[in-house]
Amino acid sequence: MKDSNCIFCKIANGEIPSVTIYEDEDFRVFLDLGPAAKGHALIVPKEHYANLYELDDGLCSKVFLLAKKLAVHMTEALHCDGFNIMQNNGPVAGQTVFHFHLHLIPRYEGDTAGIQWNPGSASQEELTQLGELLRVR
Ligand code: 5GP
Ligand code: ZN
Repeated sequence: MKDSNCIFCKIANGEIPSVTIYEDEDFRVFLDLGPAAKGHALIVPKEHYANLYELDDGLCSKVFLLAKKLAVHMTEALHCDGFNIMQNNGPVAGQTVFHFHLHLIPRYEGDTAGIQWNPGSASQEELTQLGELLRVR
């Protein structure tokens, strides 16, 4: 399924040009226009899924294998010092393009990517209660 209003549908299917570093029948991987760091790329399925919740299970199982392959390849090519793999779901989580994608972000000592959060705190009681709520049965 494609969404005619979706920019990533158009890029993934070649209707809008992109700097593509990998392509197969399921995915296109292209460089981000607003890179967090040099080499920031996006793995994008050719079919439209708005987010992880909607993503097809078969593609879901393929996407992390592909992420590993590309992280290894990009690290060798760029000589980066580390690597982030990110995936945002919903505006509150930072998603701005509502077609599933995985960010591949090479990291360099002293870069300005700034991918971090402020560690909070939780009591043992809170953790235990949350554990009860979240345990998969
Ligand atoms: P999100 O915020 O949804 O997790 O990530 C969307 C990403 O897509 C951003 O990093 C943004 O820079 C990138 N992006 C948005 N529009 C385009 C585009 O037209 N072409 C490319 N190559 N990247 C885009
Ligand atoms: Zn789409």
